[in-house]
Amino acid sequence: TPSELLRNFCIIAHIDHGKSTLADRMLQLTGVVEQRAMRAQYLDRMDIERERGITIKSQAVRMPWAIPDADGVQIPHALNMIDTPGHVDFTYEVSRSLAACEGAVLLVDAAQGIEAQTLANLYLAMENDLEIIPVLNKIDLPAAQPEKYAEEIAGLVGGDPEDVLKVSGKTGEGVEALLDRIVERVPAPVGDAEAPARAMIFDSVYDTYRGVVTYVRVVDGQLNPREKIIMMSTRATHELLEIGVSSPEPQPTKGLGVGEVGYLITGVKDVRQSKVGDTVTNAQKPADDSLGGYQDPKPMVFSGLYPIDGSDYPVLRDALDKLKLNDAALNYEPETSVALGFGFRVGFLGLLHLEIVRERLEREFDLALISTAPNVVYNVTMEDRTEVEVTNPSEFPGGKIREVREPIVRSTVLAPSEFIGTIMELCQSRRGTLLGMDYLSEDRVEMRYTLPMAEIVFDFFDHLKSRTRGYASFDYERTGDQAADLVKVDILLQGEQVDAFSAIVHKDAAYAYGLMMVGKLKELIPRQQFEVPIQAAVGSRVIARETVRAIRKDVLAKCYGGDISRKRKLLEKQKEGKKRMKTIGRVEVPPNAFIAALSSD
Ligand code: GDP
Ligand code: MG
Repeated sequence: TPSELLRNFCIIAHIDHGKSTLADRMLQLTGVVEQRAMRAQYLDRMDIERERGITIKSQAVRMPWAIPDADGVQIPHALNMIDTPGHVDFTYEVSRSLAACEGAVLLVDAAQGIEAQTLANLYLAMENDLEIIPVLNKIDLPAAQPEKYAEEIAGLVGGDPEDVLKVSGKTGEGVEALLDRIVERVPAPVGDAEAPARAMIFDSVYDTYRGVVTYVRVVDGQLNPREKIIMMSTRATHELLEIGVSSPEPQPTKGLGVGEVGYLITGVKDVRQSKVGDTVTNAQKPADDSLGGYQDPKPMVFSGLYPIDGSDYPVLRDALDKLKLNDAALNYEPETSVALGFGFRVGFLGLLHLEIVRERLEREFDLALISTAPNVVYNVTMEDRTEVEVTNPSEFPGGKIREVREPIVRSTVLAPSEFIGTIMELCQSRRGTLLGMDYLSEDRVEMRYTLPMAEIVFDFFDHLKSRTRGYASFDYERTGDQAADLVKVDILLQGEQVDAFSAIVHKDAAYAYGLMMVGKLKELIPRQQFEVPIQAAVGSRVIARETVRAIRKDVLAKCYGGDISRKRKLLEKQKEGKKRMKTIGRVEVPPNAFIAALSSD
């Protein structure tokens, strides 16, 4: 297709504002998916995506759409719709997808108005110089207030409230007009057809049958089947076994030219060889410069993952290897814990990423797992100026520390203005600094805060939601780091440190953490033949203490003499029970106690 007849666009929206549903209607109206084959959220292919109603991996679909020219002759165009993940954990993938487009449909629920992720995604789209098409969705809802929110949007993106399109992804109302507007307003892609090929990778997905499928947007030149290509960040060469477009099922083509969006198959088996953000060029006639902007996804949150049954360790290792084929952002290293045995320290993009990976491990590989409390990455500078990066609290150095730095985020909270006080209180209790505040309308406010990442990764959003009766929305981006007064709190059983329970917390929160953990453990650890002190300590200073009192447990006392075989059975049973126990020093702890103590409620 000549580039002047192409339109590349994406839909950006806050979660649940109806992006996937609108995409479904577009697939239907343009005839690429037959009525019969239609199912809801057609593009969300992963089970977890469908169940949670969220889009994790982006997808691209090509759709034909014709509009009349000045003489009334229908001119067929090709629209490429690139579906983006909506969640903050996947911002890097969102921004790569946006870079593959010239326009963005900014979709806002007409009963909700603008939310935090609407803003975050809008700013990303503006940074990429995209043409923004504002659209109000769900106008079929009785609670919809299209006039009110059209003003809000116009106030944000500029232009006339009259120009904001009003659609319903559910009934299809207004969707044809939206497709027309996309063709009219989104600029056609421009590039140099004669230059060496350069295509940007905006997604890569592992497929059991076809290996890695790489989604690209061609910027300059042309890519053809059977050619040799080079991945510019690694200089690796591959042969193009197949090249094509998704519509939405894969359709091989004779090549992809300037502005086109499609997929490549090279037979590689690991998504790390086809990295999102990398540039593909032709091996015979390579480009000098990559398109830039390649960035390794950086894990923000770490957690230890351990099989509850130690013999599942090899299964867990294989499962992580398999997931990694599809998820370049997943990082892991083997780790051993005195309390939990063999496992992995796993790095994630954020808490949602952690939850999804954990759920996939449990569901697709039938694993029962314990995960340790998630933590961020700390940078510790010692008195002698050596620096240590800490991804596991139990590895926090013990010597003379000069400074500890923690990651911080810039966050945006949107809420009805009646909640300003509540939100300020919450953010202050999480060591936040107010950067600014703006009214979006009379009764809705946008508040911007700097917050330590460690304070938000855990339960911040839950608290925000419950304190604002669900009305607040929240988004954040990593901005840098700051020095902070942080200490490691250790938990000791009979003087032995239990590594899985160590935590890095702000000095002012150390006492509360210590008290909470020793309290929990006192309830969870069974009485032993001897007294077990449970202590929380910062360095050598004990800050909280509980004691599990001793019992004399004699199984044989229960048998009234005689029956030898019954005695033997009891002894064997006790021995077996002991095998399943974890021992910390001399203290026997049922694995369930660790799980319970590590669960967040
Ligand atoms: P996404 O998270 O932005 O992809 O949102 P979805 O497309 O998954 O939609 C979220 C919810 O809103 C689902 O329950 C949809 O059925 C519903 N929904 C989406 N569009 C409309 C609409 O136009 N009208 C109504 N009434 N509901 C809609
Ligand atoms: Mg969706």
